[in-house]
Amino acid sequence: MKLLFATHNQNKVVEIAPLVPQFFEIVSLHDIGFQEDIPETASTLEGNSILKAETIFKKTGLNCFADDTGLEVDALNGAPGVFSARYAGEQKNAQDNMNKLLLELKGKQNRNARFRTVICLILSGEKYLFEGIIEGQIETKYMGTNGFGYDPIFTPKGHHHTFAEMTLAEKSKISHRSLAFDQLIGFLNKYKSQSRYLF
Ligand code: IMP
Repeated sequence: MKLLFATHNQNKVVEIAPLVPQFFEIVSLHDIGFQEDIPETASTLEGNSILKAETIFKKTGLNCFADDTGLEVDALNGAPGVFSARYAGEQKNAQDNMNKLLLELKGKQNRNARFRTVICLILSGEKYLFEGIIEGQIETKYMGTNGFGYDPIFTPKGHHHTFAEMTLAEKSKISHRSLAFDQLIGFLNKYKSQSRYLF
């Protein structure tokens, strides 16, 4: 059964495809020649993942899923949240985003934050949501060079290193995205065993 990952980020597709039960064939927007931008104009992560999945479902008719992630900082009432990618402007520059965040948090005691990923799956006409959260805190300076986005300033709770000081394998064991995808994959496994006689 074909399952379309509604993202233009091919790295995400490569990461997830081997983890999905073989019963499903993961296809990307690139695979089906879909090049249009996908709207991300909702005000919540849930809203954006639903908007992206529904948009692609309407255009392709394929079973599909979409993800959306944000960094939620308590002292900033949950900002940058849904605006994480473009916190410092439409140039979507990670360095600018981190600089802005460090400035906003200057002098603030409460550095608690979390990464949250929401996935919306549309399967056989039904909609399902999955969530992965990792709690942690925002450092006062950059540490480490691995990863992307806000990784150099985010230390997960119970750890002594930022995401950017971890290897990809270490980060993937605990990350918000992995947790959300674990939920999705668990669901797809169950769905597969229940529908064994239908396909
Ligand atoms: P997306 O929804 O996966 O595209 O993520 C939106 C934005 O959140 C990214 O552009 C990054 O700024 C930030 N972000 C998402 N996941 C991570 C992560 O694992 N580490 C650091 N930043 C992230």
